[in-house]
Amino acid sequence: MKLGTKLIHAGVAPDPSTGAIMTPIFQTSTYVQSAPGQHKGYEYARTQNPTRDALQNALAAIENGKFGISFGSGLAATDGVMKLLSPGDEVIASNDLYGGTYRIFTKVFERYGIKFQFINMQDAQNIKNYVTAKTRLIWIETPTNPLLNIIDIEATAQIAKQHNILLAVDNTFASPYLQNPLDLGADIVVHSATKYIGGHSDVVHGALIVKEEALAKQLYFIQNSCGAVPGPQDCFLVLRGLKTLHVRMQRHCENGAAIAKFLRQHPKVAKVYWCGFEDHPNHHIAKKQMRDFGGMISFTLKDDSQEAAFKVLSSTHLFSLAESLGGVESLIGHPASMTHASIPREERISNGLVDSLIRLSVGIEDVEDLIADLQQAIG
Ligand SMILES: *Cc1c(COP(=O)(O)O)cnc(C)c1O
Repeated sequence: MKLGTKLIHAGVAPDPSTGAIMTPIFQTSTYVQSAPGQHKGYEYARTQNPTRDALQNALAAIENGKFGISFGSGLAATDGVMKLLSPGDEVIASNDLYGGTYRIFTKVFERYGIKFQFINMQDAQNIKNYVTAKTRLIWIETPTNPLLNIIDIEATAQIAKQHNILLAVDNTFASPYLQNPLDLGADIVVHSATKYIGGHSDVVHGALIVKEEALAKQLYFIQNSCGAVPGPQDCFLVLRGLKTLHVRMQRHCENGAAIAKFLRQHPKVAKVYWCGFEDHPNHHIAKKQMRDFGGMISFTLKDDSQEAAFKVLSSTHLFSLAESLGGVESLIGHPASMTHASIPREERISNGLVDSLIRLSVGIEDVEDLIADLQQAIG
């Protein structure tokens, strides 16, 4: 079955008690038993909920996995992966991560005796230099936020397999429409479904998808034991959102390409970061592992002052100034003062994250209107 069909049909079936075509919101904490221990597969809603089951099965199908494990947020899903580890274990992570992921690794799990190495993975072979006998997990994100760097998933998976290390890929930016890390050898796919999968900026949700049953069992154990589960209403919203992922993503990609090209020829724009350009440093890898290039774009102005960037950021009408990404509406943001403000300025700038960098999450509006909005804001 192809992705568009899976998005609409996988995991869901009409409700057997009523015929309701949409999975109901099972807003219940417990389930009646006919005799002690005799029930219909549902005992208590932290452990199982039918709305969550439908979503977990749908998520597993759209990432070409076998098991989906849902959490209350993307970071709760990340927390679930880290709880596979024990004190003394080591993690190799890319040095260009979502800020919240960096925070939970360094501020929470380092205190529990897990050691992290944050390294440049633009050339995946560099990972080999950091593998030790204690390395249990490699954690990557591709494309990265906000500089749209690309990491070779297949090459990373080969290194992980050679050394018997788990590979987790945060696939939030690409979404299953653009890339399926399990097909390229990853063990765990991580999603903040808050972004493209939910797609409507109306729900916070996270998920893990795996193929291996033993790994899935460990993760379901953590989901139930630690309890960071999503509510049924949120599962319903994600299920509703994901049915249109393929049509939304197609438009995000078309609009993204048109806006990247518009920005690149604009006389006031210095540099445009978008992995669809042939001269993007890892364009060949993006082309190999992604089906298209997405709607996330960053750019800098020739006037590299923060004031010039702020003027653009406060002059758009259709692009709303806000954090987050992946919704139907276009957003504009300033990583240096918003999503990445916690990183010291020198470190930020040495990684290319300068004060004039502006990030766009291109929505699915009519692209002529979006371009006109940017044109008047940049001036
Ligand atoms: C937003 C985001 C997260 C965290 O997800 P939440 O749902 O906000 O907890 C993780 N990774 C990436 C790439 C993100 O953009």
